[in-house]
Amino acid sequence: MRGRLPVAGSQSSLREANRAKIVEAVKQYGGLTQVELTGATGLSPATVSTIVKELVAAGLVEVRGTVRSGRRAQLVTIAHRLGLVAGVVVGHRHLRVAIADASHEVVAEQALPLPAEHKVDTSLDRVALLVVDLLERIGANLDELLGIGLGVPAPVDVDTGLISVRGIMRGWDDVHVAQVLEKRLSRPVFVDNDANLGAMAESTLGASRHVQDSVYVGVSHGTGAGVVIGGRVHRGFAGLAGEIGHVQVDPAGRVCGCGNRGCLDTVVGGPAFLAPLRDSHGNLTLRDVVRYANEGDLGCRQVVADAGRVVGQVVAGLATALNPQCIVVGGELAETGDVLLEPLREAVLRRTLVNRVAPVEVVPTELGGRAELTGALLLALQSTDVFDRIDEARAGMVEEVG
Ligand SMILES: [Zn+2]
Repeated sequence: MRGRLPVAGSQSSLREANRAKIVEAVKQYGGLTQVELTGATGLSPATVSTIVKELVAAGLVEVRGTVRSGRRAQLVTIAHRLGLVAGVVVGHRHLRVAIADASHEVVAEQALPLPAEHKVDTSLDRVALLVVDLLERIGANLDELLGIGLGVPAPVDVDTGLISVRGIMRGWDDVHVAQVLEKRLSRPVFVDNDANLGAMAESTLGASRHVQDSVYVGVSHGTGAGVVIGGRVHRGFAGLAGEIGHVQVDPAGRVCGCGNRGCLDTVVGGPAFLAPLRDSHGNLTLRDVVRYANEGDLGCRQVVADAGRVVGQVVAGLATALNPQCIVVGGELAETGDVLLEPLREAVLRRTLVNRVAPVEVVPTELGGRAELTGALLLALQSTDVFDRIDEARAGMVEEVG
């Protein structure tokens, strides 16, 4: 926890510590009712109510009516006026941009298709235009944007914003992605791998929020994993941790963009994944396969299930190395639900050691198609000084109230 440490025993420092507890809980979850705040902080309902009133008066939080479990409740969020952030996810074939406030509430959002093997310059131009356009739509300007979190489907050296392995994302090599976008928008940009962002979102707000050690697996045009150890995303030395798309699954397979042979990415998500359907179904896209599988098409369900098995084999290796409590499965192929998840789960459970505490949980994403975008927004919020400003303002309340 940032901010000042309270001095033990003094009345005002106890208040300050209680205020800090409440602000930390609201920062982490975006918005909580007063009853939920009581549960999250261990404070009494009366104390929560008093402190929330103080924080509202200081302009740090806002309260509005909502409904929880069919009953009316007061939702407490970080005040909207404290600033906006943008989250951006660039995929192999699409781009998504969202604008949110410090309470994690998305206030504008749009997606655009991208051509195959899109180039970094034109794609970041589109990102910049879309960010400005979304801000205009909500009547805000660039000055109100504190920062931008950007996810890409490749390993990233977060210190330099450079994609750390050449050939994985063609047209994006040797470009300081963060610097290029910063130049266009004159706002700070923070870049990370998309699976790391999915992991950050699921472990903060989604399916793995109750555990300390978890893995997020995104299965789309490529497959990537984000590793969370002790509640923090583990990126590794050069941002390569969890790059399971480049684990070899077929020693005699196709040569991958990374230069190795038979990587998982050459088998799942790409052209080789769609090829078995060509004779029976014609030329399908990944989206088509997801849609037909959900409509019950047996051929499409077959290739998705095969993908689940091979991804599960690779994830089992990762799980053996890391011993996570929970594996969260997301990405576009996860939109087929159990068609992907069941064979993936079975492959993981069959290949990992059975411990006497509890088997590893293999669960679907709770944030759905929004996991990575939510992670990009969280990255922007955590990297900008908005939370520091809240802490400073809260610490400043001591003199006024205490
Ligand atoms: Zn590879």
